[in-house]
Amino acid sequence: MRTIEKTDEYLKAHGIMPSYQRIRVFDYLHNNRNHPTVDSIYKELVGDIPSLSKTTVYNTLRLFNEKGIILIINIEDNESRFDADISNHGHFKCKECGEIFDFDLGKDDLHILKLEEFSIDEQHVYLKGRCPKCK
Ligand SMILES: [Zn+2]
Ligand SMILES: [Zn+2]
Repeated sequence: MRTIEKTDEYLKAHGIMPSYQRIRVFDYLHNNRNHPTVDSIYKELVGDIPSLSKTTVYNTLRLFNEKGIILIINIEDNESRFDADISNHGHFKCKECGEIFDFDLGKDDLHILKLEEFSIDEQHVYLKGRCPKCK
């Protein structure tokens, strides 16, 4: 994944006003590749930014997703996770430890039959099982 030198410029380039809170949320997500939840992002940042609310974190993440700079991973119905890596990759969730692992997806790994006439905007590949540690 690309390195981002200046978060404020990166946000501006994607039509997002780079407020201090937005910069911190994006930096956190960019530096933590463990697919955090809203709760964990909030808990990590609120010590530094006492004015932060969970709603702000959530709305910021929705905005980032709308502008195409993060992915929302809905691998579970009741829990969204977030990812600043927008390259085409799949997610594997371990049912024991709950950790989410990235894996690469080649362009041609997914053979979708009968959809030749359709254009695909998004691709989400979710796998569940047990990681090597928990197996
Ligand atoms: Zn595991
Ligand atoms: Zn990922």
